[in-house]
Parts: sequence; structure tokens; C-alpha cells
Amino acid sequence: MENVVEAEEIAGFDYLKLDSFLPDEHKALVQQIRRFNRDVVMPNINPYWEKAEFPWEIARALKDLPIMGGLIRGFGSAGLDPMAVGLVGYELAKGDGSIATFYGVHSGLAMGSIGLLGSNEQRERWLPAMARLEKIGAFALTEPDRGSNAVDLQTTARRDGDYYVLNGAKRWIGNASIADVLIVWARDDDGNFGGFVIEDPNNTPGVTITDIQGKIGKRAVLNADITLKDVKVPTENRLEKVRSFRDVGKVLTVGRYGVAWEAAGIAAGVFELALDYAKAREQFGKPIAAFQLIQQKLVEMATEVTLARALCFQIGNLLIAGQLNEGIASMAKYNNARKARQVALLARETLGGNGILLENHIARLMLDAEVVYTYEGTNEINLLIVGRDLTGHNAIF
Ligand SMILES: Cc1cc2nc3c(=O)[nH]c(=O)nc-3n(C[C@H](O)[C@H](O)[C@H](O)COP(=O)(O)OP(=O)(O)OC[C@H]3O[C@@H](n4cnc5c(N)ncnc54)[C@H](O)[C@@H]3O)c2cc1C
Repeated sequence: MENVVEAEEIAGFDYLKLDSFLPDEHKALVQQIRRFNRDVVMPNINPYWEKAEFPWEIARALKDLPIMGGLIRGFGSAGLDPMAVGLVGYELAKGDGSIATFYGVHSGLAMGSIGLLGSNEQRERWLPAMARLEKIGAFALTEPDRGSNAVDLQTTARRDGDYYVLNGAKRWIGNASIADVLIVWARDDDGNFGGFVIEDPNNTPGVTITDIQGKIGKRAVLNADITLKDVKVPTENRLEKVRSFRDVGKVLTVGRYGVAWEAAGIAAGVFELALDYAKAREQFGKPIAAFQLIQQKLVEMATEVTLARALCFQIGNLLIAGQLNEGIASMAKYNNARKARQVALLARETLGGNGILLENHIARLMLDAEVVYTYEGTNEINLLIVGRDLTGHNAIF
């Protein structure tokens, strides 16, 4: 019987039949994550979200999926192609934003930084254990006074013999309080950018990590304030291939690519829930789906989900072809995050009073969409990156 359930295909909304263009291995991966959402995420996530607790039982189960390390080849990593990485982010986000973020920070930002910007020796040292989820990664760029303006970060790394000595503060850092491998971005004595890996940061002298309380979105993933006071990091822990913000920008462009898929996934998740509800819920003697005003909401949502999804598939093609630039990645993030927010509100309305109940999942995803709107470059910053790309004029500063 179990095998029958396993074999059952779980459908997803796909108006343009984009899935039919995917190779079988991508289709199988999508099914695997849909089963994960159905069996592990959806039945368990809400209490964690409500209590703002990290769902270890769900996070640990992620290691059974062939997804850790995303694009990275070798070093125990999944070695997925860009389309597969996008599909994974999309499907995870359909289930839950916190899980998608935990995965995005650990696998995309932290492992991705080491994979893209570390030496072979550094990759060998950290990636295999991270791929097995024995070590958890975090990526500390944002500072209390340098959010959108992270390029001007204030954290310093002063060279002292075989060590760098780090001083400064970081804010909003996902996974930090459970991290084993914390990448801190700082400036060295020459003003160059560097990525400094603090191992076991929660037990490192001079590092203070405090989880931020009272978040209204992505409540089941932990985000922390970090202070760094004379923290000694061995010189061999400096990522070898980083000297400027441009190098970090390579990780951020792929990050924005992933978040564009994530936003589309949230939109698809809430739309599918709202469509099912509208067909089942009756008022005035018929399903609410039969009313024109409800159909208007459903069509609006379906159209935005379809467009966001099509955009994702094309940026996937561009990343595969090596043609995804910063402007295009920002446009995709800008559009999809904005639309996810709008679609989530429509989905919530469609459920009436039931739309504000956690048990129906839409309210959680709706609030998670607020975070997606702001992180990996706020909506305004991504808009201005596209504006700069189109006009050649920088309106950011
Ligand atoms: C839940 C969550 C998780 C996060 N995880 C991480 C993480 O793991 N690692 C990490 O390093 N960071 C993380 N971040 C930080 C995130 O990237 C920043 O919040 C984001 O870059 C914006 O910075 P800020 O919040 O300081 O806003 P600010 O930069 O202060 O912006 C405030 C407002 O001003 C606008 N603004 C700023 N500059 C301009 C401008 N030039 N023109 C027009 N408008 C402008 C912004 O768009 C925004 O609307 C996370 C944030 C959140 C909320």
C-alpha cells in the first residue's frame, strides 16, 4: 500500500504545461519534494511557526532529499543543474517559507559561498559535512546600520600573525544560533572584502549570538543579531577567492535567482490552497468558486502564478546558458516577490474568516511572503538594479 502512495503523482498548478518540458529526473525530483511537503512539512510545521521554534524534525529529514549543496559538484554535494535548483526552491516554498529559507541559507548562501569562493582545500574541509547536514551553515552580511547598503559594511578583520581579529555586528543572520559554519563578511586592513569562516561560532570567544524575537514572518527559522568582539579567526579560514563586493555579488545573484523561484512557489502554494477551498466551500447554495467575484480573484492569482513560473523557467534556461546577469535576476526577484505578496492576500481573502487561521496554511505563507519581499535585496533595491541595467544611471546612491 505504501508503494502505491509513493507512486501516486502529486499534481501542481501548471497552466502553461511547463513541467512537460522537464526531463524525467527533474519530474522525479519535483515529486520527491511534493511528497516531502505532504508527509513531513504540512502535518507538522504550524505549531513550530506559532511558537517561533526551529523544526529540527523537518530540517533533519531534508537530508534524505538529494538537494544539499545545490549547484555544487563533488564534495558530497547534490550537483544539481540550475533548473533543478530552482524547482527545489519553488517546491519547498509551496510547503513552507521557513524551511525554504533554512535550506536557502544553508545550502545556497553558506555552502554556495564556500563552493564558489573557497579554495579546493576549504571546500574539502567544510562542504561534505554540510552536505550531510552534520554541520549547519550561516551567511552574515547584513549589519544593524548597513542593510541595503551592505557594500559599505563596517565589520573589520585586522591581521594579527596567523589570525584575523574580527570586530563588528551583524543582524538578521539566518541559522546563526544553530550554525557550525558561520561566514562573516568583513573588510581587511587594506579595505578589501573578505569572507571569514567562524567554526562553532556559538562556542567561540568574543561571538555573541542572540535570536531576534517577535518576527511576524518565517517564524520557524531563526534569525539572529551577532556581535563580534576581538574574535580570532585563523588565516586559513579566509575564503580564498574573495577580494571585493563583486565576488560576494556572484553568490547574491544566484541567491536572487533562488528567491525568485521561492516567491513563485509561495504564490503557487497559496493559490492551489485557495482554489481547492473555493471549489469545496458553499454559500448561497453553491460553491463560492461559482461566483464571478471569486473567479476574478482565482484568475488574477492563476495568471500571476503562471507568469511568475514562466519567468522562473526562462531564468533557469539563462543560468544554464551562462547568460543570467544581475539585472535579469533582480527583475525576476522584484516581480515574483511583489506578486507573491499580492497573490497571498487574494488567497487569504478567498477563505474568508478561515483565511486567518494557521491551520489552513495560507496565513503562514502570506506572512512568509513579507520576508521574501525584503530579503535578498528589498523590492526597491532590486527595482533600482534593473533601472541601472536599463539606463546606465545608478539611482541607488
Ligand atoms: C527574516 C530575514 C532573514 C534575513 N536573513 C539574512 C541572512 O541570513 N543574512 C544576511 O546577511 N542578511 C539577512 N537578512 C537581511 C536582509 O537582507 C535585509 O533586511 C535587507 O537587505 C534590507 O536591509 P534593512 O532591513 O536594513 O533595510 P534598509 O536597508 O534600512 O531599508 C529600509 C527601507 O528603505 C529602502 N531603501 C534603502 N535604500 C534605498 C535606496 N537607495 N533607494 C530607495 N529605497 C531604499 C528599502 O528598500 C526599505 O524599504 C534577512 C532579513 C530578514 C527580514
